[in-house]
Amino acid sequence: MSVAVVLAAAGSGSRMGAPGNKVLLSLDGKPVLSHSLDCFSVMDEVCELVVVTREVDRQAVSELVHQAVPDKKTQVVLGGASRQDSVYLGLLALTTPAEWIVIHDGARPFITPGLVRKGLRAAQEHRAVGIAVPVKDTIKKVQDGFVLETPDRAELWAMQTPQIFARDLILQAYAWAQEEGLSVTDDCSVLEAFGHPVHIVPGEYANIKITTPDDLPQSTAFSVGFGYDVHALAANRPLILGGVLIPHDKGLLGHSDADVLTHALMDALLGAMGGGDIGELFPDTDPKYKGACSIDLLKQVLVIMEDRQFTLGNLDITVMAEKPKLKTWKTSIKSKLAQVLAIEESQINLKATTTEGLGFVGREEGIAAQAVVLLRSN
Ligand code: MG
Repeated sequence: MSVAVVLAAAGSGSRMGAPGNKVLLSLDGKPVLSHSLDCFSVMDEVCELVVVTREVDRQAVSELVHQAVPDKKTQVVLGGASRQDSVYLGLLALTTPAEWIVIHDGARPFITPGLVRKGLRAAQEHRAVGIAVPVKDTIKKVQDGFVLETPDRAELWAMQTPQIFARDLILQAYAWAQEEGLSVTDDCSVLEAFGHPVHIVPGEYANIKITTPDDLPQSTAFSVGFGYDVHALAANRPLILGGVLIPHDKGLLGHSDADVLTHALMDALLGAMGGGDIGELFPDTDPKYKGACSIDLLKQVLVIMEDRQFTLGNLDITVMAEKPKLKTWKTSIKSKLAQVLAIEESQINLKATTTEGLGFVGREEGIAAQAVVLLRSN
């Protein structure tokens, strides 16, 4: 069986409220379009792939196609004014004599080889196949704000792509539709108007079309980071933990305000985003950071986090100190951190422990802090 694919990716994405093409938006770490390209790339029966796109996206789309489908004949061609025109241009660009044509929307990234093959099997018998799912909602025909009609839901199916056709049939039907000036929103409609029966193959509800930003599922890409810091205790120094001044007869020694908790937290954040450590970012050889407020440095780390499009999941911090007892200060530290990080206090867990008199912490020579954070990449 030989299959050629026409992938429609010429939409403007105007409903996305973003100027760019929605097929180039990121989904699970790669552009929406690449998900479909990867699906067809691994299908041995696919011998040719034509992607239809806009001039403005041509280079970006060409690079993706080149990367994702290196072993097949591919072309990136310019689309027309409507989806129908674009698909027709894609069909005309095909050069191999593949028996079957799969037409798919680049904005449907959840396509799988299994679904395409299910359609291809049905196409052997029916020559024109649409993937669709039964409508779950009650659908009403509405005019000027009033219901005209409620069609029987049992007969209603929502069309998806891929739609699959015998080569000669789809070329003939599309040429006829162009001649007749027919305007349709999916490829099966062309066959229906042409008078050829269209067979429906049940698809998957997950095979959604990305139309608005809400359709982009929450990213599932998480990264974890760990931070550790120690500062020595000394007389005549303030003890600052998480930006909160804690009354004590000793404070922490350091180039900055020596806020050991905030330092561990910053290193955890940088760790999760692959951003090095605070020593690289705020070197203690730089006089600029002498006596620096660590919360201000944390705010700089948050700017980097935003630039790299990470959001905070949760953080878990442990402070190791023999004295003072931090139990009564936990609430104010959490509240301060939540305010600076612009998250809920429930996303922060703060633990304090002694080391049972052992080591430098036990001898009250210093305080140590550890932090673990989870970031979500958007
Ligand atoms: Mg430090």
